[in-house]
Amino acid sequence: MNTIIDRFNKTKSNINSLKPFRPVNIIAVSKTFSLNYIMPLVEYGHIHFGENKVQEAHSKWNDLKKQNQNLQLHMVGKLQSNKAKDAVKLFDYIHSLDSQKLADVLSKCQSKFNKQLKYFIQVNIGNEIQKSGIPVADLDAFYNYCINESRLKVIGLMIIPPNDDNTEKYFKSLSELNNSLALKELSMGMSADYLDAVKHGATFVRIGSSIFGSRS
Ligand SMILES: *Cc1c(COP(=O)(O)O)cnc(C)c1O
Repeated sequence: MNTIIDRFNKTKSNINSLKPFRPVNIIAVSKTFSLNYIMPLVEYGHIHFGENKVQEAHSKWNDLKKQNQNLQLHMVGKLQSNKAKDAVKLFDYIHSLDSQKLADVLSKCQSKFNKQLKYFIQVNIGNEIQKSGIPVADLDAFYNYCINESRLKVIGLMIIPPNDDNTEKYFKSLSELNNSLALKELSMGMSADYLDAVKHGATFVRIGSSIFGSRS
């Protein structure tokens, strides 16, 4: 069988072996990989895919999504407001909602194209200067702004944890924040740490290299 499908199934069985309470969706993050790599998984029936650049995603997925309406495309990378229009047209989920300005622009684009996406608020859990995301201290206010003013369908929180030894601690904190806002979905966990993320309640894991191989 195809290696990519084997690796995908292995990832899935690793997750299932933890007996998670809630269903865990695997987002196959296909950034940098061409359709040759992606098609076997699409044909296998997998529907959740992730990209981190609007333009690259458009060239790979625009036609494919028209042919296959079930496909769910996730924007996992930083989104600049000037790309919001194209993002709203193409994506189903955005995991990187991280400013009021972006929320405002997305809201306008949604009305214009009569489309409702699902959103994760990216949280800067380690308060890292170089990372995007909403600081924990501002999260309540930002969440309220997004749902009441921008009318965005926020379904959960998302993190890319700091690169240190406290990953599990960050997953646990994000899960608690998610519960405090009564949000149902939780986007955390990548190839290196998805099993820890699932232990702490992740419902969307974003897996690239464990499925597609290492990126050059
Ligand atoms: C690339 C990327 C992933 C997948 O990373 P891997 O380590 O290859 O699994 C997940 N989330 C985000 C935001 C990414 O940019």
